[in-house]
Amino acid sequence: MRKELNIYSYADLLQHFPLRYIDTAGIMKIGQLTHEHEYVQLQGVIFNFKEEGSSFRKRTTATLYDKTGKIELIWFQGGSFVQKNIQPNATYNVFGKLSFFNGLANISHPEVELYNASAPVNGMQPVYPSTEKLKGKGITNRSFAKLLQALFEKLTPATIPEILPPAVLQHYNLMPRFEAFRQIHFPANEALRRQAERRLKWEELLLSQLKILRLKLNHHQQAGFVFPHVGEHFNNFFNNHLPFSLTNAQKRVIKELRQDTFSGKQMNRLIQGDVGSGKTIVALMAMLLALDNGFQALLMAPTEILSQQHYQGIKELLEPLQIPVAILTGTVKGKERKRVLAGLEDGSIPIVIGTHALVEDTVKFKNLGLAIIDEQHRFGVTQRAKLWTKNERPPHVLVMTATPIPRTLAMTVYGDLDVSVIDELPPGRKPIETVHRSENFRPKVMQFLKNEIEKGRQIYIVYPLIEESEKLDFESLMAGYDQVRAWFPDPQYRVAMVHGKQPLEQKELNMHRFATGDAHILVATTVIEVGVNVPNASVMVIESSERFGLSQLHQLRGRVGRGSEKSYCILLTGSEISKESRQRMSIMTQTTDGFIIAEEDLKMRGPGDIYGTKQSGALDFKIADIINDIDIMEETKAAAQAILQNDPFLEHAQHRALRLQIHNSRNKQVQQWSKIS
Ligand code: ADP
Ligand code: MG
Repeated sequence: MRKELNIYSYADLLQHFPLRYIDTAGIMKIGQLTHEHEYVQLQGVIFNFKEEGSSFRKRTTATLYDKTGKIELIWFQGGSFVQKNIQPNATYNVFGKLSFFNGLANISHPEVELYNASAPVNGMQPVYPSTEKLKGKGITNRSFAKLLQALFEKLTPATIPEILPPAVLQHYNLMPRFEAFRQIHFPANEALRRQAERRLKWEELLLSQLKILRLKLNHHQQAGFVFPHVGEHFNNFFNNHLPFSLTNAQKRVIKELRQDTFSGKQMNRLIQGDVGSGKTIVALMAMLLALDNGFQALLMAPTEILSQQHYQGIKELLEPLQIPVAILTGTVKGKERKRVLAGLEDGSIPIVIGTHALVEDTVKFKNLGLAIIDEQHRFGVTQRAKLWTKNERPPHVLVMTATPIPRTLAMTVYGDLDVSVIDELPPGRKPIETVHRSENFRPKVMQFLKNEIEKGRQIYIVYPLIEESEKLDFESLMAGYDQVRAWFPDPQYRVAMVHGKQPLEQKELNMHRFATGDAHILVATTVIEVGVNVPNASVMVIESSERFGLSQLHQLRGRVGRGSEKSYCILLTGSEISKESRQRMSIMTQTTDGFIIAEEDLKMRGPGDIYGTKQSGALDFKIADIINDIDIMEETKAAAQAILQNDPFLEHAQHRALRLQIHNSRNKQVQQWSKIS
């Protein structure tokens, strides 16, 4: 039980919350089932176990009967465990997702639970999460229920004391703690179960908000370098060398940065701005501010290509100001590396751009005052943590992301950062028309591309390259390249290709060919996802679009629509895709609003890996649900703010229990994680 479910103590057991409840009122008759039903709860006897298929595709099937009909149960794994434990002629409760095959109903991997006639008839029986392994060892749902029942016979309100201050309980109308734990396990009725659930979610989210907001308070107490001057570099650039006028959103964010760096506290700010909203220039002006005050600045990007591109762009912009800029990545070696390292250490290089190579211990600064991280979700936790140690005091930290962050995530994962939003695109951008086309339309799509090339446009064609299936994907990229070559033959068309396996020089050469307009088409993997900027490229074709996440599609699409021409994004998929994929494609064709897309992505895929937050532990809630509990989250944030305002260290008697809870929580990861950015 320990290993399998992480249950070590009574407290853990109490927090082993039921997955759902068997409500006798909810049991259906097999004869009533239709295609309309999704998750169903049935009751009957189980017979007729069979092993079907051969080695690889082996499965176990059985039949569930009630008085009105029968239905097939299927296990692709662990079927023999189940078979061993089923008693013929006994009645079982069966829960699972209904599907139909050749018109016959079945349930794969149902939850099967011996029907307990002695349980209260109209009560709600808890069903606990478990594993096949535990079930195989005879630790069933009943065992959990019995354990908890026994536990509650011993427990009294005094053994599960209240931790929320009375005023909070009253104001938000929350069930007392002991009662909530009892009702969540053994609800007297649905209304009480809901109240119990709300109370427990509330407690969990309040603790999380308190932790995050306390970190934020700590940040704000962290002494930082002061940038009192808006000096020569900043003003000279702003007045004489800015290639366009800033949008109001850009101006506002620069003002916010100025206030932060003037305050005497260390800045920890997140800039959110959709693809193409112009974050780079904001970063550059922040760096000039650092220089004007005698500090060095670094800009860190997640990939070599992106670092190169930032380097080229920024070097060009700073040319007239005669400010030296260096690049430091894994491929800068030998003499050049020595030169850069020496220049950073003696301060003769004021601005450096690079990849995570910048955080290595060998990189020392004379006086680093500002560290900017672009596209931050690609950076590992520890890499960012190291930035703090690059000067006697931690430098100001600015994190820029183009991945719009849904509100719930922003409040948890990034809750300790101050947030600025660039919510305005530079003027003159043409909207991007997005269409979804299936494989059958390929000839038409290719003809369309030819017409666009005829008009002088350039085209991206992107293939998925996902780590787990890297080899296969690589093959399909190569096959795709050949296919593109066949549609667009030499010498009339010029096609370049970039992917992660190319030597850097070749990659750069090909990028360069595309950037200068020499190549009409760039065939690429997602290496171009972030940051690449070729305004004349106006068509983005994404192959096997169904395999990309929505946010990733949005990022890719952001590579076009940067020039003055009308731009297109064509999402190619196979002809037979799932309903969910179809839905995702339709979201993409309907909106270009990154925030809507991010919210949808979160709903469909869960918060897991999208934002690289899985390892952070910040989202490991036991009962709260980051997608659906936004209302409770808002409430707890307000409550946490109010509590900390009067009592920043939770020293008052009525907050002592909260402080202890935070202190004892085994989940220290949140703290580590938030500390870094
Ligand atoms: P992102 O926020 O995606 O990093 P960039 O900083 O790369 O966006 O900017 C995208 C493009 O928009 C660049 O070509 C940049 O020069 C241009 N740009 C940025 N700000 C403005 C502005 N205020 N007016 C016009 N063009 C701008
Ligand atoms: Mg960018």
